[in-house]
Amino acid sequence: MAFKPANNIQDLQYFGEFGGVNPSISDSSTYTFLSAKTMFDTFEGNADGCYLYSRHSSPSNLYLGEALAAMEGTETATVTASGMGAITPVLLQLCGAGEHVVSSRTIYGGTYAFLKNFAPRLGIDTTFVDITKLDVVEAAITPQTKVLYCESVSNPLLEVADIKSLADLAKKHNLKLVVDNTFSPLSISPIKLGADVVVHSLTKFINGSSDTVGGVVCGSQELIDDLRNVNSGAAMLLGSTMDSLRSASVLKNLRTLHIRMMQHSNNATYLAERFEKDGLKTVYPGLASHPSHELFKSMMNEKYGFGGMMTLDVGSLDKANALMELMQERNLGYLAVSLGFYKTLFSAPGSSTSSEIPEDEQKEMGLSDGLIRFSIGLDADIERTYDMMKSCMKELNII
Ligand SMILES: *Cc1c(COP(=O)(O)O)cnc(C)c1O
Repeated sequence: MAFKPANNIQDLQYFGEFGGVNPSISDSSTYTFLSAKTMFDTFEGNADGCYLYSRHSSPSNLYLGEALAAMEGTETATVTASGMGAITPVLLQLCGAGEHVVSSRTIYGGTYAFLKNFAPRLGIDTTFVDITKLDVVEAAITPQTKVLYCESVSNPLLEVADIKSLADLAKKHNLKLVVDNTFSPLSISPIKLGADVVVHSLTKFINGSSDTVGGVVCGSQELIDDLRNVNSGAAMLLGSTMDSLRSASVLKNLRTLHIRMMQHSNNATYLAERFEKDGLKTVYPGLASHPSHELFKSMMNEKYGFGGMMTLDVGSLDKANALMELMQERNLGYLAVSLGFYKTLFSAPGSSTSSEIPEDEQKEMGLSDGLIRFSIGLDADIERTYDMMKSCMKELNII
């Protein structure tokens, strides 16, 4: 039977302590115990259902974590203060000094910077590969490799990872496949395709209101317990804990994610099809011209579409900057990094979100100067948006 991630979220039933339709917010950093013995057991990790201290867990964080675990189809999950606060503990939990990561080279700039510049200080080395070439991926695996890391749809080039085949490789070599699914929540369910761990930046589509950063690790009970272990857990000891007030607000936003993803996808599909017809170099996984269009189709939960992310290459950085400024002036969106907002957001990744990646490497991976990354908003009238964007492009001699 098809996996229905939105149903899994909807089928959860949470009540507040006075019968409220939303769960009560746990506004406490610490919790009392009726007996000293139970406190001891909780420290040892042996008192299920008891709360100890909110850096470890809190009722509000558990509600949000369980909803996200239901969405991804994992045993459980732990929420974190940011996406990077989810990604770095997972990598550090799964890899130690002398061990090795094989990672896609087209990943979020912060993740790339962590693996390239920071993790080597701890003795963890990474080989960056073109994740779409499975033979290259396999050739990079060494006896020290512990983790295979990728994004289901990569930032900013929208390369699509063949999660099933990567999962087979991971199994064959006894690695954990960790997938960042930030760009394609609901659309792609990596666990169902064989991934071991899914991470998200909740900051983007899942929260959807650009009012906070947040993250989550979805995985097995064993991994999440390890991450939260009082003595050796990277999430517990590095302390990237989400605040309870915030997890309550993210949970409320999560309830409309399915409607928002459909609208983001519909709007992005409309614009991508039009701009491609207008002769612009357009990258969108929903276009037949996208090299991984068929692969995305074979993996997706169809209803939610190909997502809200699209790139256009307008030829040069100067043109890209002029277009973005003009579109902002006409209130078609904001010149801002991040994604998943109700409003369209655009930025030139080469000089912003991917600037951690050296220029020659940017060139090699096809990240050109004139590239604009769009996170298409929830516009009610996308035909009007298209007409207005097109007239901006005409004024700047882009089309
Ligand atoms: C934004 C982003 C992150 C980092 O998340 P933060 O919430 O900013 O820490 C990681 N991966 C991807 C794909 C992202 O877009």
